[in-house]
Amino acid sequence: MKLSDLAQALNQSQNAALVVGAGISYDMGIPLGYQIPMLYGEKHPHLLKKYGLDIAWQQVANAASADRWKHEYHFVVALLTALIGSIELQQTFVDWLSEMKNMMGSPSDTHAAFIIAWFNRVFRHLVTTNWDFLLEYQVDAIYHPPEISEGIYPDVFDPVTHIFTDGRSTIIDPERLYFLNSIDEENYFWESRWDIVTQRSDLKNIQNWTRSLWKIHGSPFFLACPKCGGFSRWHHTEKRTVGDPCPQHPDETLQPEIIFWGQGIDTADALVWKRLRGRLQRSDMIVACGFSGSGSDAYLREVVENHQNAWLVNPDTGDWDTDRVRHISAGASEFATMLIDEFLT
Ligand SMILES: [Zn+2]
Repeated sequence: MKLSDLAQALNQSQNAALVVGAGISYDMGIPLGYQIPMLYGEKHPHLLKKYGLDIAWQQVANAASADRWKHEYHFVVALLTALIGSIELQQTFVDWLSEMKNMMGSPSDTHAAFIIAWFNRVFRHLVTTNWDFLLEYQVDAIYHPPEISEGIYPDVFDPVTHIFTDGRSTIIDPERLYFLNSIDEENYFWESRWDIVTQRSDLKNIQNWTRSLWKIHGSPFFLACPKCGGFSRWHHTEKRTVGDPCPQHPDETLQPEIIFWGQGIDTADALVWKRLRGRLQRSDMIVACGFSGSGSDAYLREVVENHQNAWLVNPDTGDWDTDRVRHISAGASEFATMLIDEFLT
């Protein structure tokens, strides 16, 4: 199968879903899988020692490459157990993660192509397992073009132009970005369509006119309050950390809204998974890209594999059942280039 076959299938689709994983952010320097906990350990030797994790970490560092994964697994399980019981470890982990290069996002043609293809209805649904904000950054750039910093506010009726690095441009219809919401019988206002769904309290915001980015592994940028749902640290200058009181509910403390390794949304928040799974099953096509579907992500891979019209854009097949998915050996940037060529310009 080739990317041109995928382009043809997408052209015939009315209701496609795109599922993306760590592979789409790797080129932007975001580490894959267990590289993150190992790096966290390397940067926090005193915490490893304090929580008795130093020996397990050292065993990975000393391991021969053939059985390194066994030691990594052992370390990650030990770290997870410690994380669950320690606000200090959670706090240092999400703070460290949120400061990682490009974690908060930066311009990326690949991520922009996926976001614009989603806004322009090439894909109806967009699901990410990534903690980074590279997709959200592109959304933000579309809603807040550079003129705003110069005090020029574009009219919401104006189409938005996005320019890719190679100079080609694409247009997003304002109808794709905003909808007219009524305050009362006479007054209306334009409200942005996009939203992020991470946990069950976000489900009530889903309406026919909203576009939900299913961010099913949460993010170091989200802190959750049991009463009001969550607090985004993105774009906030006021620093809030794990364990702080909720700004609206001083009697509640903020918890990291993140799904660590070894867990999935299927067990962490079954209600969110039920809603998402229904959408995936009702789609007429699912494309997975940069998503290995291994380990604790197997539940999501299986839903894709069980779909009659499933496509995989990954350099390698990994754990995927290639009898059931149409595999295209390509990276995320090549897929994004195809979308730009065939659908966006
Ligand atoms: Zn609250």
